[in-house]
Amino acid sequence: MNLIILGPQGAGKGTQAKLLAEKFNLEYFETGKLLRETAKENTDLGKHVASRINRGFIVDALTITKILRRGLEDIPKEKGVVFDGIPRDESQIKAFEKALKAYKRKITYAFFIWISRKETLKRLTKRRICKKCNSFFILGKTLKPGVKKCPKCGGEIYQREDDKSKVIEKRLEQYYQKTLPVIRYYYLKRKMIEINGEQSINKVFKDILAYIE
Ligand SMILES: [Zn+2]
Repeated sequence: MNLIILGPQGAGKGTQAKLLAEKFNLEYFETGKLLRETAKENTDLGKHVASRINRGFIVDALTITKILRRGLEDIPKEKGVVFDGIPRDESQIKAFEKALKAYKRKITYAFFIWISRKETLKRLTKRRICKKCNSFFILGKTLKPGVKKCPKCGGEIYQREDDKSKVIEKRLEQYYQKTLPVIRYYYLKRKMIEINGEQSINKVFKDILAYIE
């Protein structure tokens, strides 16, 4: 089983992908994290990725292919994968499907977790992350305003450069523009399933499971 989780930033894609990976023993392919790690490398690829994601741009298909192949190489053939954050646009579909084919994989379902633009902005500008353990916190909910140390490990709390509201606006605009062909592609293949993301984490997960089981 190979799954794709789609949805605007803040829809809870990562949370659902992790839950699915755990439940069905799938590999969690976290494209955003791989890109951020690559962006830290002092290589041409790293610098290229950094310059794009820090300005809120989607990474080009060639870069995506490199990152996909790097990631898929290490996953055992018999193990399924849940893809988070890929493919993001029309050009990435081809690169993605080609890479899947090279590793003899096929997409079973693509889930689109839908939340409104307003809800996305509300969720993302409040997001904070621990530098050390990578835990996510919501300002005013799971993290008190003014707290600078991680409640779990004491690490430094920060706001991701691409979680600041101007960059979010740009990312969202791009998201809606660019993801539509991806949704259409998997819809025409009868693999696209839309899920209401403005529900509790458990309810969203139950809705997804209802289609798989
Ligand atoms: Zn921490």
